[in-house]
Amino acid sequence: MVALERLGRRRVAATLLLVVVVAVLWVRAEPLETGPAFRIDPVDPAHAQPRLIGRTGETASTGFGLMTGAVPTRGHGYALLGAAESAPSGFGLLGGDDPARTDPGEAAAALAARAEAGDPDGYRALAQATEGLPLAERRDRAGRYRGLYLDNLGLDSRVRGFAGPLRIGVYLDAEGGVRELVLLESRETPSYLHRVERAGFYDRARSVEIAPGLQRIDAVSGATLTSQALARALDELIDSAAPVLDEHLDRPARGFALEAPLSDRWIWQLALLLVLFALVWQRRWRLDRTERTLLGLISLVTLGFLFNLGFTYLNLLHPLLGVSVSALVGGYAVLVLLGAIWDDNTYCRHLCPFGQAQRLVARLDQRSRWRRWPLGARTMYWLRLVLAAVLIGGVVLGAERWSGFELFPDLFALDVGSPWFLLALFLVLRVAAWVPMLWCRLLCPTGAVLDLVARAVRPSRRGAGVRVAAPVPQTLSVTS
Ligand code: SF4
Repeated sequence: MVALERLGRRRVAATLLLVVVVAVLWVRAEPLETGPAFRIDPVDPAHAQPRLIGRTGETASTGFGLMTGAVPTRGHGYALLGAAESAPSGFGLLGGDDPARTDPGEAAAALAARAEAGDPDGYRALAQATEGLPLAERRDRAGRYRGLYLDNLGLDSRVRGFAGPLRIGVYLDAEGGVRELVLLESRETPSYLHRVERAGFYDRARSVEIAPGLQRIDAVSGATLTSQALARALDELIDSAAPVLDEHLDRPARGFALEAPLSDRWIWQLALLLVLFALVWQRRWRLDRTERTLLGLISLVTLGFLFNLGFTYLNLLHPLLGVSVSALVGGYAVLVLLGAIWDDNTYCRHLCPFGQAQRLVARLDQRSRWRRWPLGARTMYWLRLVLAAVLIGGVVLGAERWSGFELFPDLFALDVGSPWFLLALFLVLRVAAWVPMLWCRLLCPTGAVLDLVARAVRPSRRGAGVRVAAPVPQTLSVTS
């Protein structure tokens, strides 16, 4: 009991809670998928007239998917979509966002247009409505069959990247080899997308063959979630379209599986994280100020520029958003949370590369300091907390675009043409000199979450005011 008191009940309880969460995620070892692969959309809720929505279906199917509800369609090629219904959500089409709401002919034409627009070989495409996902046949000028195009725009994908679903298209050659994988739409941070491209992920995707068996493309370190989501989206797309593909390809598509494992580099990255955290936590050699600065520099160079391996609050939300948690991200999250529980937020105080970059600039450029800054520490703390709560609430409730409110990846991706990179650079090089650590103290949702955890488990809160773990460097002062 005494030992428990000495350790701090709250800290012990928080650690046990963390252990339970990790254990549950470990046992499940699967993303918490949200919803079925296909969404059933209510269509035209108030109409009383039957409506033609397909031409090729039989029994309970149309050209674009299965009907649900009590509409009898057996015995003819038409599906009648709903009669006057007080609860119309029982009706709808499987397999569609926009395409399901439009005429099948229009959807097919749109698919053909997409296929032609992005075709690396400039072939003509003719799309057809099928029993499963629609697909487009590609033919050269002489009319010879050259392959297929299909995309997941009409599929309610279960695959989530860093910030929501990824819309992809894939060109297959006549033998079923992936000719080109294209990203049509996503909300991923641009720097992750550029990293995936620069690392040759799309080139590697061309080695994939649509055939039974498990195939692999290496994931991209520093954009792991994005690259793995691309591979899973392709896997899901082929799996969903397999019945149709089997009619067009020589080899069966059923049984095809694709994954993007991380190369062994993630082990070294996790080992590096362990060493960095251990250096801060150990009590044998007390690090002096110079050594702590050196540690920060090492973190800046390795976690920042070398691996672009930042930790953000989104990593903590992944299980809630249906994103699978890799061993690297999971291990990173555990270290960061243990640092928040037992060491007043180790990550922000010593290791976050974005914080270290600001701290360094604030130390080196003290002449640019603004003499007066209107917001006090307490005001900034609460503003940051409110901002974090709004962002987290928005992301969890489906405003996936809000997850882009993080500049860490943009800075370290060194994507010099990106406006987000320039903004991140401006924040670090100028704003951090004018008002030290302003991003950390006023805007960073990750810091808000970690400081909140640290504050909640601190043994004695008496006399403890607002503490921000990314403090102004000791030698600096800000008049507020
Ligand atoms: S507040 Fe944000 S940017 Fe600053 S050190 Fe913490 S996590 Fe990094």
